[in-house]
Amino acid sequence: MDFPIPEAPASLLRRLNDAGYEAFLVGGCVRDLLRGETPQDWDICTSARPEQTRACFAGERVIETGLKHGTVTVLVEGQPFEITTYRVDGTYSDGRRPDRVDFVSDLTQDLARRDFTMNAMALGLDGALRDPFGGAEDIRRKLIRCVGEPERRFREDGLRLMRCLRFAADLGYAVEEETGAALLRCREMLRNVAAERIQAELRKLLMGAGCVEVLRRWPELFWEFWPELKALKGMPQNSPYHCWDGWEHTLHALSAAPPDLAVRLAVLLHDVGKPPCRSTDEAGVDHFYGHESVGAELADGMLRRLKFDNATRERVVTLVARHCLWFPPEERNIRRWLGRLGAETFFQLLEVKRCDGRGQPEEVSLPRRGELDALEAKARAILAQGECLTLKGLAVKGSDALAAGIPKGPAVGEALHALLEQVLDGSLPNDREVLLEKLAERAGR
Ligand code: ATP
Ligand code: MG
Repeated sequence: MDFPIPEAPASLLRRLNDAGYEAFLVGGCVRDLLRGETPQDWDICTSARPEQTRACFAGERVIETGLKHGTVTVLVEGQPFEITTYRVDGTYSDGRRPDRVDFVSDLTQDLARRDFTMNAMALGLDGALRDPFGGAEDIRRKLIRCVGEPERRFREDGLRLMRCLRFAADLGYAVEEETGAALLRCREMLRNVAAERIQAELRKLLMGAGCVEVLRRWPELFWEFWPELKALKGMPQNSPYHCWDGWEHTLHALSAAPPDLAVRLAVLLHDVGKPPCRSTDEAGVDHFYGHESVGAELADGMLRRLKFDNATRERVVTLVARHCLWFPPEERNIRRWLGRLGAETFFQLLEVKRCDGRGQPEEVSLPRRGELDALEAKARAILAQGECLTLKGLAVKGSDALAAGIPKGPAVGEALHALLEQVLDGSLPNDREVLLEKLAERAGR
């Protein structure tokens, strides 16, 4: 096997070797090289102690933030390379981080502390792969397997469960049987993991090509941090619009989603309000009145819990709240909704609605698909004409309202919004003179 190592990381390995130390590429970059992908970042492990590594790179730009854990970061042309001394982790008492780390002189011991076999390989300048746990074979078989005894490894560090799911979704690999059984048994370990870390892995997971299979195979793990999803599974939807339970409907919808995080989150959460809103009429038909607003409320709490940024959270909540929005496809309606939601959210909403349709029987969703396409085409045409869609594009501003005699305070915004609504539905032109006159009328002058 021959894996060409780019010059920048190769130069670091050479420098350490020349000083008499062992040094290898290790972890994710070796995995990615074997998969034929270009690594995002390059990690190096070495027998050199941190001070020795530092001495090797005297005169280079070095960052010492990880020194306690044995990591020295060297910058080569602005790109950071982490060089970490061989180490073993001490005991884990908090289910997340080792209480201490000890430096060792043996590469295999360092590889043994790593999470999965595919991440526990090292590659040196000699081109030979160090692979004591069969990582290359697992990559060939597309399998994620813990190094060592899965249950013990998951109980040491709960983040590994989330990494396992993320890799499964991202790489489209299966989880080896023992590892999978331990994943399920250890699921409560996810409670030890900081919300930000769950969120970071969840983002990558949802953007992965295999995310639907992972959600379908391991729903119980997601319930640990999002128990709101649980009631969808097995929830009957006895209605002409549906042929699956709430969870299968959600997964079918998600399988149609483009790789856009807000859209994927919104599709995953779009019906989370259905279980609490379900009612069955005398004919035995299920209804879910108000589930969009209940769902938006729940989604808001779920995203806050994982500390999503405000912009993503607000966007997703809007998409969930509006996923049932339907209006006659007249230009004035489209203009109004483009203005209310903003163009980007408007098009994301169309995506969410398309996905929702994919989770329904064809006879329901097929005609809708054409309507959504027509709506999108009309909206794009409106945007291309550059028409006024928001307050920013309105021909008068707050200062004009004040000058016309509208009292300072909320009345200004109200006056401008009232004008915008009329411009959007075509009852007023977006013409400064006309709008100034309307403002004066409103102010009673
Ligand atoms: P990515 O492609 O996302 O960077 P990665 O596997 O490189 O994936 P990193 O967080 O960069 O992930 O970690 C580098 C290496 O450190 C991993 O390949 C693995 O060997 C080891 N590692 C990372 N996190 C853990 C963990 N929680 N438990 C054990 N080993 C870990
Ligand atoms: Mg990495």
